[in-house]
Amino acid sequence: MTIYQPLPEHPKLDPQDLGLLSAVAQGHARLTPEQSLDLLTSAPLHTLGRFADARCRELHGDHLRSYIIDRNINYTNICTAKCIFCAFKRKGDEHDAYTLSHEALYEKVQELSDIGGTQILMQGGMNPDLPLDWYLELLNGLRERFPHVNVHGFSPPELIEFVNFFDPPGATLIDKVRWVLIKLKDAGMGSLPGGGGEIFAPAVRTKIGMGKCDMEAWLQVMYAAHSLGMFTSASMMYGHIEGYADRIHHMRLVREWQDKAIRDFGTGELPHDIAFDPTIKKPETGGHYLGFHAWPFQPDHTALGRLPTWPTPEDKAQGLPFPGDVVAKLDGSGTKDEDPLFGRRLRFAGATEYLRTQAVSRLMLDNIYTIGSSWVTMGPHIGQTALFYGANDMGSVMMEENVVSSAGTTYCLDEAVLCNLIRTAGFTPAQRDSKYDIIRTHTSPDSPDLKVTDWSEHRTKRLHIQSAEESAAEQLGTAELTVGASDN
Ligand code: SF4
Repeated sequence: MTIYQPLPEHPKLDPQDLGLLSAVAQGHARLTPEQSLDLLTSAPLHTLGRFADARCRELHGDHLRSYIIDRNINYTNICTAKCIFCAFKRKGDEHDAYTLSHEALYEKVQELSDIGGTQILMQGGMNPDLPLDWYLELLNGLRERFPHVNVHGFSPPELIEFVNFFDPPGATLIDKVRWVLIKLKDAGMGSLPGGGGEIFAPAVRTKIGMGKCDMEAWLQVMYAAHSLGMFTSASMMYGHIEGYADRIHHMRLVREWQDKAIRDFGTGELPHDIAFDPTIKKPETGGHYLGFHAWPFQPDHTALGRLPTWPTPEDKAQGLPFPGDVVAKLDGSGTKDEDPLFGRRLRFAGATEYLRTQAVSRLMLDNIYTIGSSWVTMGPHIGQTALFYGANDMGSVMMEENVVSSAGTTYCLDEAVLCNLIRTAGFTPAQRDSKYDIIRTHTSPDSPDLKVTDWSEHRTKRLHIQSAEESAAEQLGTAELTVGASDN
């Protein structure tokens, strides 16, 4: 067994030094947080794209880019948290509050199975009325009926609330989390999504995610899952009140905890140490983060989205910097008192900002195999462009999405369109499973995109902004299938 060693850093080098960036792209050097911040804020966009793409090709080759067919099932919208960026949650007494029955959930998974889907992303609000047995019966029922469908379920904030709701045995919070995780895993849960990552820095997190677990708890839950050999994802939602340094601090923690997971539970080999070959399955490497997914905040119907956008005319007149940047520190130690306007101004992230952030994530997260494109929030063409800014995976052809689409416009693609986007970017589309193993490579004439004769049937749709009522009606199983993605 090899002893895992993180890549060497070269803190004295200029981050835009082409030699350093080449070494990073080849997997010989690690960027420091300071260098990463400089790249995020100052490097030309094409430099970021060039080296993030080179890094991606180093890991994934020039040939295949992947996607998965899964379904995002939000089993309840009742939630104890009060995230101000959320338009999805209900307290429980509203007319559109819901919890899906097991039978309704099985029907949804059957529909997924019928189109060749291999995974459900199952997350909910944090509903205090559901006992542990409700989850265990559901998972057992899913495994019995759909053994070929992976349950990628229950994000760290849900796990922390499960501890509060179920009062499991254990001396520490993490002992209790492990107890619950073992129960869920034994009942059939396969992997954990990275939902609720948002921004880790406490100053930001306490402002936007009231009632949701803190950074330490989020990371510890994932570490507990890794200790049980489970695979997880990490996520980040940015483009609101955070500073640039907060994004880097967030990625830094993901990278550090990934180092820890590989060192403590792995075999010393990363998945990407294995030459990319779709015909072989990757060896078991111990629990760790398989992918990183980041997307910009969607503001509609949210309290957070009603904040003024920086700079307001007064901010401009006074030459005020963005408050998030005043507060943000690379070690996460910033406090809200450092700027009276902190948490009162928004800075949205558009397409360029999205591509920059994703490219830096690919370069900085040298120990994470997959970087996912977020076409759901950015649209199909920016999602496609993201394949040249470090993304190797187009995420999900999903049959529904509720949380992000409750907060803004999301996009709707079917498998043929997704394959077409990958192919017209110059790659071969390949369907993957939940472990990023390739299960179908689309080279034959009856590939989902190549067999299409009339593209008018496959137009990209822009999902309208759903009202809560529409969202709930759709959840209750009546509406036509919607396609969207928030792979986290
Ligand atoms: S984002 Fe999730 S945890 Fe926060 S209020 Fe909405 S449903 Fe609850």
